Amino acid sequence: MKNSSPPSFPTPTQCLLRDHVFLTMVLAASEVYKKETLGFLLGYQAGDLLLVEYAVPLQSAERGFVWAKVPEARLRRVEELSERFSLGLHLIGDFHSHTQLGSSLARAEPSPTDVTFMDPGRLYIILAVNEYHGKKHQAWHRKGKKLAGSLGEFAFEIGAFYCDRERHYVELEIRCPFAQAL
Ligand SMILES: [Zn+2]
Repeated sequence: MKNSSPPSFPTPTQCLLRDHVFLTMVLAASEVYKKETLGFLLGYQAGDLLLVEYAVPLQSAERGFVWAKVPEARLRRVEELSERFSLGLHLIGDFHSHTQLGSSLARAEPSPTDVTFMDPGRLYIILAVNEYHGKKHQAWHRKGKKLAGSLGEFAFEIGAFYCDRERHYVELEIRCPFAQAL
């Protein structure tokens, strides 16, 4: 780490998802399949851990032009709410899904477009949603730094990426005790 970096905000290495954050993201991604879902993440950083307390899905969100423009107003409302109720939460990033295209499987990795929209200091959670035809559900488990598992007819992989000051992204280890106990 550089000397100029504030010691209280080291680049995080892990992110912890609350139960409802996991559920909100997975359900939102399932509901709009094959469209992609997106939303905001609220939380805070504690040492090298990013705690995600709330996921706020955006309705009628589309990628591309709108993706960059629409969230501004919504974002201000979310920040105002957090301030007004002294929740101590900050907008720490966003989440979105990648969906299967024909036989081409979605991956929980940032696309070139995703990288273009990344801002330093932000967390980006990407859910890959692929069709699942297995008879038994796949228990949620760690897959490298990601979380993987199935819900209904979908197989998920969830990756967390943090954009550092040099605008490079690093993959964080995702922890979600709730999902891992399912
Ligand atoms: Zn993406």
